This record gives sequence, structure tokens and C-alpha cells, in this order.
Amino acid sequence: MNAPLPPDCLNSPWQLARRAERMNPSVIREILKVTERPGIISFAGGLPSSKTFPVAEFEAACAQVLKDDPAGALQYAASEGYAPLRQMVAEQLRTKAAAAGHTWEVDPAQVLITTGSQQGLDLVAKVLVDAGSKILVESPTYLGAVSAFIPMEPDVVSVASDDQGVDISDLRTKAAGARFLYVLPNFQNPTGNTMSEARRAALSTVAAELNLPLIEDNPYGDLWFDTPPPAPLTARNPDGCIYLGSFSKVLAPGLRLGFLVAPKAVYPKLLEAKQAADLHSPGFNQRMIAQVMQGGFLDRHVPKIRALYKAQRDAMLEALAQHFGPMPAQADAAMLDSRLTWNCPAGGMFLWARLPQGQRAVDLLPIAVEQGVAFVPGAPFYADHGDERTLRLSFVTPSVEEIHRGVAALARAMQEQAGV
Ligand code: PMP
Repeated sequence: MNAPLPPDCLNSPWQLARRAERMNPSVIREILKVTERPGIISFAGGLPSSKTFPVAEFEAACAQVLKDDPAGALQYAASEGYAPLRQMVAEQLRTKAAAAGHTWEVDPAQVLITTGSQQGLDLVAKVLVDAGSKILVESPTYLGAVSAFIPMEPDVVSVASDDQGVDISDLRTKAAGARFLYVLPNFQNPTGNTMSEARRAALSTVAAELNLPLIEDNPYGDLWFDTPPPAPLTARNPDGCIYLGSFSKVLAPGLRLGFLVAPKAVYPKLLEAKQAADLHSPGFNQRMIAQVMQGGFLDRHVPKIRALYKAQRDAMLEALAQHFGPMPAQADAAMLDSRLTWNCPAGGMFLWARLPQGQRAVDLLPIAVEQGVAFVPGAPFYADHGDERTLRLSFVTPSVEEIHRGVAALARAMQEQAGV
């Protein structure tokens, strides 16, 4: 049945599909519009730092690709993706898993190059979700994934999560009949948290026991600051997981390239969905990325991104401690309710903070913008009841000096909101 039309469309020939009714403008994008006023220091965006884009390497790769095989680069191409790039992706995943102590024999035939990992989420939804299907997500989770799943009309169920990852006993109570659990083990968006080794091992075992497929989204995994994160969930049970990766955070999001690794049981259907969606991801961009990656470029380039982001995170931690007092090593609930609290992400782009009791992030935002700083309230990242006190702070795009000024402005805004 078609959805009813809004009254101003009554004489319009256009009848919207029910799924279109369920699509909403991203809450975050709406917030970002407000915060993009000139002069505002933004901790709100989710963009990688443009300082990290390897412009000269792309310039050289562009010329090389056109010189080597212009017809191949500019012609329609295979839906699976550019074979040398699929090979590189498989090799890198195998090497990283081995360094983390796991054998993961990634067959390049299981790698599908996607138009950003966002397309991976869309394909997963199309292939695995029927109207009314139960799907499980962390609490909070990546809003863009929920937006990709929603048009398929699922029943989205949140599983409790803490700073170690998914709560296994809550998962057990909710897993029956679920199509999958969508999970972000590394430097999660929005919290910056990383799932511990113990929790990964437990989740992997329980998911296998419950026959629950996992969708593992890992766009930030390479951006660790001190030590690499534990091995992916997919490396532990490749037949029970779909792994999503991205070139956006290690090279450039503008090329819109990512990849997925899927078990043989679902790969052909994901490929058919991909063919229907866009035939293939831009072949020219795929060749440029393969050209840039040749000779171990990422091994030299990614450490520079890590160093930059770590310095930025440290600046934010220092500024927060200066303005709000250091986070106590041990504190009771009353103490944590009385002050701003935050975590210390071990990688990625985001820090997660929580306002004192009685303050709501959504009310603080306009006051903060008046003071010259923006952030994203955390509540929209929850598929069910959001924690209204939470906020996401990105530390990668402002300079260190701006981070200090921005945190000072946040402190002023909080004082104003509290009426101090
Ligand atoms: N997953 C997560 C968790 C993300 O944060 C993002 C980007 N913000 C994506 C997927 C999509 O990234 P892309 O399509 O650029 O690969």
C-alpha cells in the first residue's frame, strides 16, 4: 500500500513509497548546518582532517593510471571491483589479523569493492532485512547505519553496551530471531570506545552459539594511537560475519571507496544488489587508490595520521582537565553526576562526554554556539531512549589552539546553562 500524501501534495501525481516516508534528514546534518557559522570552532563534524590527504601522491597516481591503461580506467568495469585492489585489501586484512594473533585467510574473491562503506551498509540492509525483521545495534550506534537499515522497515533493537563493548547478557536476552547484530569494535562512532579482547572473544563465542550473524563495521581500526586494537570479530568466525572497511579515513573520503568481505553464502546476493545499485564503484578511483597503495604507502602514511590525531586528542584531554578538573581515577555515581565526564579514546576521531545531572546536550548546544563552539548531542545516536546528557566531540579538524579555545567556550556555556 502506498503511504498517504501530505496535504499540500493532494493533487500531485507523486505517491511516495512507504519506505520513503521512513527516510528522515540526518539529525546530525541538520545540526551541522546550524554549527557551520563562520567563526565557530566545531567539534561537531565527522570529517577526517584534510591535512592528511595525500594530494601529491594522488596527482602522480592520476597521471600514471591514465598513462598505463586509459581505456581500462575510463570504461565500465567489473561489479566486484578492480582485481589488484581486491588482492591488496585481502592481503592487508590477512597481515593485520596475523599481527593480532589470528589466522584470517581472506580470499580476494570474497572482497567486494563498495562506494564507501556506507554502500556496504545499504547492501547489507537490502540483502538481509525484510519488513519487520529484528536487527540488533549497539547503544549508542552509528546513525548512518540506522539510516541505511530503516528503509527496509526493520524492528531495530538496541543492545546495552559499556566501555568494553556489547553487554553479552543483554545480547542473550534479545538475540532470538535477529537477522544480525551491527557492531563497531574499534574507536566507535560516536563514543570512541574500543571493544576489549575479552569481550570480542565472548561475543564471537556467543554469536556462534546463537547462530547470530555479525556485521562488523571498521572504518577507524587503523587509526590507533599507542597499540593496535585486538583482531576483528570476522577473523575469529569469517563464515558468521560480514566485515566492512573504508578508504575514507586513511586516504580520502572524496573518492567514495570502501569494501566488504562476505562469506560465500551471502556474497553473490550482495554482488547482485551492488549491480542493481550502481553497476560498480568508480573504476578510475579504484585504480588510483591501488596505484597510491603500491609499495606499502599506507605503512608510511597512516602513522602520520595517527600521530596527528593523537596530538589532537591529547590537546582535548588537556583542555578538558584544565577547565573541568582532571577525571578522577575512581569516583562514585554521585561524583560522576556532579561534573562533566569524558572517556579517553585509544584511537579514531571522537571523544564521548557526559554533562552533569540536570543538563541536556540539546539545550546546551545553542548556548555553546553563542559562545563560539559546536558539538553533536549524543541522544540521536541511540536507536531507543537516548542519554540526553551525552555529547560527541570530534578532535581531528580544529587546530590545537582552537581545541583549547573551544573547550574554554564549552565551559562558559555550561556555566551559563547551570546559571552560575
Ligand atoms: N561507518 C561508520 C562507523 C562511519 O563513521 C562512517 C563515516 N562517517 C561510515 C561507516 C561511512 O564511511 P564511508 O562511506 O566514507 O566509507
